[in-house]
Amino acid sequence: MKKRYPLKRKVCDHCGATYYARSHRARWCSAVCQSQNFRAAKKQTQAELEQEFVAQEAEKVNKEATQ
Ligand SMILES: [Zn+2]
Repeated sequence: MKKRYPLKRKVCDHCGATYYARSHRARWCSAVCQSQNFRAAKKQTQAELEQEFVAQEAEKVNKEATQ
């Protein structure tokens, strides 16, 4: 017998709507929100990656300086 996840009331990560999900991994009320959130996250990620890269490089320099 397959295990079924109980229904959970959740709030969409993208539009804030309340929805019911069977999967504990679901984060959006619809495929539209999922794809829009993915696109937004992708955009954000590029800027964040740049920031992360800069921070990473700075950390490297700091480590080398303290060793
Ligand atoms: Zn939504």
